[in-house]
Amino acid sequence: MTASYCTDALADLVAGAGELYGQQRSARFFFDAEPQEFRWVLRTTDDAVNVTLCKFPDVAVSPDLPDFHGTVMWQATYPRSAFAHAVLEAAHTVLTEHGEAGYLAEWAMHPYPVALVQDLRRLHMRDDVCDLPHGLSCP
Ligand SMILES: [Zn+2]
Repeated sequence: MTASYCTDALADLVAGAGELYGQQRSARFFFDAEPQEFRWVLRTTDDAVNVTLCKFPDVAVSPDLPDFHGTVMWQATYPRSAFAHAVLEAAHTVLTEHGEAGYLAEWAMHPYPVALVQDLRRLHMRDDVCDLPHGLSCP
């Protein structure tokens, strides 16, 4: 899946994962794939997160459409801890590979989401039981 730089895709993913730590039981965001929309729908039940990725043919109209109008591309359920850890690792890999300056040069319209990554890391470390290694450095 490729996301256009028109949307702040990494920030939306990290923020969406972070929203699952409050009272909110679901989060939605989308990647603009010009012209398609890839919509992420995250739903929590207890400590699990159901992740559904839907594809819509035209992002110019689809953000107003309900989820069931899309084609499910992928769906899976993970412990919240595993999902958050995977998102943090992905963000960390991007930062390690590109650095903040390199990220901005590549993504152009949006800087690396430092604060959102730090927030998610704090929530993950505070509320989840995670036995995986946390070599995640803060920028
Ligand atoms: Zn972890």
